[in-house]
This record gives sequence, structure tokens and C-alpha cells, in this order.
Amino acid sequence: MKNAIEGFGENVFGLPVMEARLSAPTFASLKKTIDTGSMLDASIADEVAESMKEWAMEKGVTHYTHWFQPLTGATAEKHDSFIFPDFKGGIVTAFSGEELIQGEPDASSFPSGGLRATFEARGYTGWDPTSPAFIKYADAGAATLCIPTVFCGYNGEALDKKTPLLRSMKVLSEQTVRLGKLFGIDCGDTMAKATLGSEQEYFLLDQDLYAERPDLQQTGRTLFGKASCKHQQLDDHYFGSITTRVAAFMADLDSELWKLGVPAKTRHNEVCPAQFELAPVFETLNVSVDHNMITMEVLRTTAEKHGFVCLLHEKPFAGVNGSGKHNNWSISGPDGKNWLKPGDNPHENAKFMTIIVALMKAVDTHADLLRSSVATAGNDHRLGANEAPPAIVSVFLGDQLTDVVEQIEAGGASSSKEGGSIHLGVDLLPKLPRGNTDRNRTSPFAFVGNRFEFRAVGSNQSPAGANIVLNTIVAEAFDEICTELEAAVAEGKEFNAALQEILAAAIKQHKRILFNGDGYTDEWLDEAAKLGLPNLVSTPEALEVLNTQKAKDVFAKYGVLSNEELESRYNTYKETYETLIAIEASAAADIAKTMIIPAAVTAITEYSVVPAVAGISGEMSSLLEQVVSGVAALEAVGEPAGQVAAMNGLRASVDALEALVPADLWPMPTYAEMLFI
Ligand code: ADP
Ligand code: MG
Repeated sequence: MKNAIEGFGENVFGLPVMEARLSAPTFASLKKTIDTGSMLDASIADEVAESMKEWAMEKGVTHYTHWFQPLTGATAEKHDSFIFPDFKGGIVTAFSGEELIQGEPDASSFPSGGLRATFEARGYTGWDPTSPAFIKYADAGAATLCIPTVFCGYNGEALDKKTPLLRSMKVLSEQTVRLGKLFGIDCGDTMAKATLGSEQEYFLLDQDLYAERPDLQQTGRTLFGKASCKHQQLDDHYFGSITTRVAAFMADLDSELWKLGVPAKTRHNEVCPAQFELAPVFETLNVSVDHNMITMEVLRTTAEKHGFVCLLHEKPFAGVNGSGKHNNWSISGPDGKNWLKPGDNPHENAKFMTIIVALMKAVDTHADLLRSSVATAGNDHRLGANEAPPAIVSVFLGDQLTDVVEQIEAGGASSSKEGGSIHLGVDLLPKLPRGNTDRNRTSPFAFVGNRFEFRAVGSNQSPAGANIVLNTIVAEAFDEICTELEAAVAEGKEFNAALQEILAAAIKQHKRILFNGDGYTDEWLDEAAKLGLPNLVSTPEALEVLNTQKAKDVFAKYGVLSNEELESRYNTYKETYETLIAIEASAAADIAKTMIIPAAVTAITEYSVVPAVAGISGEMSSLLEQVVSGVAALEAVGEPAGQVAAMNGLRASVDALEALVPADLWPMPTYAEMLFI
């Protein structure tokens, strides 16, 4: 048997393949673009395209596609074959540099939130050479070369998630490099790179059961379903031994991902039965985002091969855990080192503490914007629902780091806790816990030893949105701190003294964002409200943040999204939300009318002739009345908030009925059947 690990990257046109196949000058030029973000030299494009085509055709590829990430949150592709008639009855194959660099799919049906009128509906795709091309094989044999691209309008307006992501990485790099220079780190034009490791949770469900759940098919989640008696109470699934069938699926999944160069690393059972997690090794942010999009697709297709359906919805089953995508984020400086790792000497630690304080400042200033980046209909069931992180964004630093922050705020006054005091640039930090100890699972934004973990991203979301915000707001915080520091030094202040003062002031202003306690408690809700931290519980509220001047200003100032681009996103996301809720509402009404009500009527009719069950029959009748009026109420409302409330009301009566109706009459698989695969 072939070793799956040996196949790592075999379907990727990555650096090793490029180096082996391109001429030395072309490879050097392309590598420079990838490393420094410099403009692509268009004159090398023909050679790269030809080489890509040859490599791909050797591997059975007939078509290529510009692979992009429109605002739908999914990926998009339109295939073009390499063939070209030779006008003598035969064909030649061709792929030019121009075709590699730019595409013009007829992409008028993608959401643009009003940015494009249909008469100027063209969208252009542009090659992102920093993320490697890869080959996707479909089971039937189709093999397609996928070229990661951005997707823009005629004047360069971003119509996708990739464009602002790359812009945000660029500004973060600029400000990081600037900060580094203040600390004596100068690496020429080498960029700093944000890094991402995106843990992916998902559910598996048997295909046969899925086929009998129209709610799952149409909305990705169960709109009805009484909790099973046993679900996750015993915590016996988390990290439990993996069943043979699931293990076979996971092995296949890893092998498929590895071929595509996705560094899948860990796999395990999650908290809820039928729930699992996959985590890759972290990579440069945009590559990692692309790899997460690929991972979601491969999860779905591999599940199908194994007779499963992979559910990526944030809350497929009520009453048990939902699925998220923990967003592990850090900055790799121009020196290639992780700048969120506490250093080995006082100077490095002054830089480390500056970055920690900048993150506090960024998250406190824009907690609402971070929240809005994870606002979707699916994620509303998770955030604040007592299991995933709360909708209130706060920062967890852990006791020791919090203590250091407090000491800096006190200006190096002697500390009560750890003994002694910290002088920036002079003293070492106390040994901070690294790795998995001292974790607070209830915090939405936690420092975990060498990176921050933003846990509010939904399992079904592209990680791009959250990271666009994160990069941009951190760039702003770096910018402001650098500006102050540069001015103080120019005035002749000693560097460490100036830094101490600037950080102390920032801590004073932003320390309310720090919270090391249990984020699920009511006390925290009250406390956060007193501190003035936003608690945006639903998507419509959270999306309004995109209309605030503060949000418009920060995106525009750093060139990540113009006001028009931001507005178009607001329009798109709002419309998507409203459409999804409307689909759920009509699916719920349909299922109740055509499946639930008939089953209840049969049960009541059968029971009504047996005096011993007259009581149950009566209970079912009154619940049936509630279902009928619940459907009427649902169909009478037209706006999302009303629809959500009416669906919840209807569900309560349906789930109560499920507890009484004979099992063989119930028209859909139960939670007990679905959760124990
Ligand atoms: P845990 O469950 O303890 O959070 P996992 O191994 O499931 O740990 O996930 C941790 C994720 O964090 C992995 O994807 C890992 O590669 C990623 N990670 C580690 N270091 C960094 C870093 N410097 N930048 C970004 N992500 C990182
Ligand atoms: Mg984690």
C-alpha cells in the first residue's frame, strides 16, 4: 500500500515543482513576488503558464479554472479546457500568461451588494501567486487545475473575500515592519506575515438518515427534533476512541487533503456524539484560508464516498454543542520569528508586551466589528447560547500575563502578586505558561501561549472575514502606538521610558476588555454591560456595525475596504441573512403541514378508540392545535425577527408532540438515531 504521507503536495504546483520546472530567473522572480509582495513581472507569466499546463496535463488535467471566493462565502469556479483548434481538423493545447493572470468569467450572478449594476456586470479574476495552484480530481475522472485568484469589478472594486484579505495582510505587514524597526529589527523589504491555523469542527450523519430530513437538506440544520435522552451529558465522546467507519473516513480525508498540500494534523471526536474536529498546521494566513476552503469541500466530498453527509452548519442539532472554527492567529515578523511568543531577553519582551497591549487596544476599540465579522444566521444559534463563546468579545490573557500588564500600568511600581516589578526593556518577564495549561474555554479571544485564538468564527464561514478585521484593527493599533513612540523618541525621550508611558496609558484606557473569568455566567453579562462592552446577540444588530463611522473609517484609512465596498458587504450579508431565515421559515411550515400534522392526526385517530390512552390522545390533540396555530402564526409574519420567534414557538409544540406520537408514525429520523452513528 502506498504511504499516504508520501503523496503530500503531489497535486500542488508549489515551490518545489516550480523550482524544478521553471528557468532559474523566472523562479527567482516569482519567489521574490511571493516573499516580498512585490508586483508580479508580467513578462514571466507565459513561461509560468506553459509550465503549469504541462505539469497539469501530465497528471491528466484537461481544464483550468480561476478559483475565487465570492461574497457567498463559498468558492467558485468556471472551467476552461486547454484545447484550441488548429484549423486543420485537430487541436493544440495552449495556456497563455494572460490567461493565467487575468480571467473574465461571466460572473454577473454573484452578490455584489449593489456595487455593480447588471449592465456593467463584468467581474475580473486576478491570479494570487502567493497561494499555489492545485489539481482537483472529481470521482468521475474530471481533473481541473485550480488557480487561486481575487475577484474584482471593472475599477478594481473588491467583489470577493480574498481581495480585502490580501490588502489587510499588506497593511498589517507594513505596520509590523515599522514597529520592528523601532525595536531595531530591520530586514529590508521582507514582509511580516500573519499566520493562521483554523481548527474545523463538523458533524457526520448517515446518508440514509439525511435523505429523510428535508430540514437538513434545505437549511443545513434540524428545524425540529426532541433531544435524545442521552447525548453529551456523560462527556463520553470527546477524545473517545474513533469508530472503524469514521476512522476510515478520516484516513481518506487526510490523504486527500495531503495530496492538496493541506497540512492536516490532528483529528478527534468532539464533545457531541457524531461531532469531530480536524486541525491543520498553521500557515501564512491567505494560504491557510484557501486551505480551509479546500478542507470544507474535501470534507463534504469524502463524506459522500463513505456514505456520510458532512454537516458544516454551526448548529445542526439543538440542545447539544454546535460547531465552530477556532481561529488561531499570530504574526510572523520580517525576521521569520513568531512575535506573539514571549522572548528570551528584556528587549524582545518589551516588543512582545507592546504587541499584547496593541491587541488589547485593537479588540477593545473594535469589539463590535470583530463580532460583526462572525455574524451569520447559523452562528446566531451558537454565540451566547451557553456553549460557544459569548457574543460579548473580551480578551483572555491568563493570570500571569494580566499581572504583567497591571505592573506596566502601574508604571513599574512594585507588584503585590509575583514579587518585584517589571521594567520594560530591562527585566525579563516571569515564565509564562506555554501550550495548553491555564486555558479558559469560555473566552472568545484568548491568548494561548504563542498566539491568539478567536473562537467565535462559525464552522461554515470562510475564515477570511474575521481575519480581515483582525489584521486591520491590529494594524491600526500598531500604527497609533508607533506614531506616539516615534514622536516621543524624536523629542529626545529615552525609548524604554517612552514605551512604558505609552503602554501604561493604553492599558488604562483599554483594560476593561480583559476578562479571565467564566464568560457564560450572568454576572459577566451584567459586568460587561457596566463596562460598556457591546453585546450584540443577533446578526441584524451585529451587521449594523458596518454602517458606523468608526468601521468605515478604519477600513478606508488602511485601504482595506472603501466605504462603497463596505456598504456592498453590508447589503449582501443582510440580504443573505434575511433570505436564509425566510427559507427556514417556509421549510418549517411545509414540514409541519405535510409531515407532522398528518402523523399526529393518524396517532390521535388510532388512540381515540382505546379508552386507556384517552389522556395521551387529549394531550396530542391540544398540541396538534398548537402546531396548527403555530404554522398560521409563522406564515403570517414577514420579517426575520418575527420568523425566528415563530419558528421557535412552532418547534416547541412539534417537539412536545414527538414525545407522544408512536415512533413508527413519526415521519423523520429522531435525534437519538442521528446522533449515534
Ligand atoms: P488546541 O485544541 O489545543 O487549540 P489544536 O492542535 O487543535 O490545539 O489547534 C491549534 C492550532 O493552532 C493548530 O492549527 C496550530 O497549527 C495553530 N498554531 C500554532 N501556532 C500558531 C501560530 N504561531 N500562528 C497561528 N496558528 C498557530
Ligand atoms: Mg484551539
